[in-house]
Amino acid sequence: MPRPYPPFKPCPCGSGRSYSACCQPFHTGEKAAPTPEALMRSRYSAYALADAEYVRRTWHPDTVPAELDLNDGVKYTGLRIHRAEGDEVDFTASMKSPDGQPHRMRERSQFVQLDGRWLYWRESE
Ligand SMILES: [Zn+2]
Repeated sequence: MPRPYPPFKPCPCGSGRSYSACCQPFHTGEKAAPTPEALMRSRYSAYALADAEYVRRTWHPDTVPAELDLNDGVKYTGLRIHRAEGDEVDFTASMKSPDGQPHRMRERSQFVQLDGRWLYWRESE
């Protein structure tokens, strides 16, 4: 189950907007993310809120993992988008493992549209 998060608080994706004005409508299914960057942000927020269902729902069926456990004690501490162009988003996600150790993950992700919706496909080569 995703962690409840107050709609008026700053969105976990770091956009500077409130959760309700940013990623929440995507998480609830009220809207679909209009761009790869918006989808990337909403997926990061979903990781932060342990919303595995959303992360799986926005992952291409060919590459989605069979199981995804987001209740692993990892804290998501920030997202930086370096570049978003075409179907690619280059970003760094920051997190802390349960023992408090900080980590950074940089990835260039590729997204693809399926039935008019953007989905995460894979890491770019
Ligand atoms: Zn957001």
